[in-house]
Amino acid sequence: MSSASLASPSPPPSDGSAANPHPVIVVGSGPAAHTAAIYLARAELHPIMYEGFMATGIAAGGQLTTTTEVENFPGFPDGIMGSELMDRMRKQSVHHGTKIITETVAKIDLSKRPFKIWVEGEEEDHQAIYCRALILATGATAKRLHFPGADEYWQRGISACAVCDGAAPIFRNKTLIVVGGGDSAAEEAIFLTKYAKKVHVMVRRDVLRASKVMATRLLAHPKVEVHWNSLPVKALGNGKVLTHVEIQDTSATGSGEVRTIEANGIFFAIGHTPNTAVLRDQIATDATGYVKTLPHPESGGPSAHTSVKGVFACGDVQDKVYRQAISAAGTGCMAALDCERFLTEDSEHLANTTTVAAPDKTVTGNEKSTSDAPKAKTS
Ligand SMILES: Cc1cc2nc3c(=O)[nH]c(=O)nc-3n(C[C@H](O)[C@H](O)[C@H](O)COP(=O)(O)OP(=O)(O)OC[C@H]3O[C@@H](n4cnc5c(N)ncnc54)[C@H](O)[C@@H]3O)c2cc1C
Repeated sequence: MSSASLASPSPPPSDGSAANPHPVIVVGSGPAAHTAAIYLARAELHPIMYEGFMATGIAAGGQLTTTTEVENFPGFPDGIMGSELMDRMRKQSVHHGTKIITETVAKIDLSKRPFKIWVEGEEEDHQAIYCRALILATGATAKRLHFPGADEYWQRGISACAVCDGAAPIFRNKTLIVVGGGDSAAEEAIFLTKYAKKVHVMVRRDVLRASKVMATRLLAHPKVEVHWNSLPVKALGNGKVLTHVEIQDTSATGSGEVRTIEANGIFFAIGHTPNTAVLRDQIATDATGYVKTLPHPESGGPSAHTSVKGVFACGDVQDKVYRQAISAAGTGCMAALDCERFLTEDSEHLANTTTVAAPDKTVTGNEKSTSDAPKAKTS
């Protein structure tokens, strides 16, 4: 396995052992993970980040490394390449003291605190790395169809995010295709009509899965044409950008006939897979696998708390609605602040329980918050 790590300016006072667990481990490396890490590092919590090594098939840095220009992240009036934006976030995390480890987390045990994690290739019990709190920022993977030409024209006419890429010059006043029949497909198709000359929606079956209101809106839109029982099977272009798409009839009774239409864009809107496999049913998720976050314990508003105390979730792994870099970063900030508060209260709790349990023993605050964590009573 290939791996590398960057040392933080001041090494964490913990070593990740059961006796001296890390205060907090961040799993992931997209905008949510780095924002959380920057806040945690500035709070002197010495975060350790496992950024992944092609985890879920995506490079460290996350989904933005798969795109070209990002035009909607504040602070970059002329836009910025997705990979460069992520490099900058990574540098900022390291600058403030995050230790980044280029390994993929393969296994997590949340059954008791301190939590245990294992990286790929080191999955024996004695190789566990311990932490008092965990931030999950493993993102989601956009589903794509794979057919001839789909990789060649990826990001040169083919995308999985209309909100992100729809306004790009290569799509303006052009004929575009949206693939999918759910609410997201309907929403993305209607969004694209702002820029496109025409939007073809390719639906695999003869019915839309979208809600009635979205379906009605879609079918009534003058720029939209819905094609039932249809899927793209080949992307054709001039070597630079997509120009045509072959569409196949998918109906059970149909001929399987293939026709070619002129199109300069294909947008996949066939769903996302939240990257939660590593959790193995240890945390509450919704029916589609997204990690559930709980209402804030005091305000009742949104929070990054999950069903497991001490585990916080941020970014696309818990968001199937907004799915943007800036919203991922925003929830990364929430996760760090919720985590910081949890660790403070947990340290106070440990200090109190330790004092009660061993009144005759002098224990410093620091020892109580780390070494005693596994033995301490938790609520
Ligand atoms: C093609 C495309 C273009 C986009 N363009 C824009 C845009 O222009 N503007 C915008 O705001 N948004 C855009 N988005 C959406 C944006 O990229 C996401 O909303 C955002 O990246 C989500 O951030 P995240 O931090 O939740 O996680 P992600 O970016 O999904 O990153 C998660 C990271 O965690 C890693 N990981 C997963 N499992 C593990 C594990 N077990 N161990 C270690 N690491 C792990 C993954 O490999 C990945 O690198 C685009 C998305 C796509 C797909």
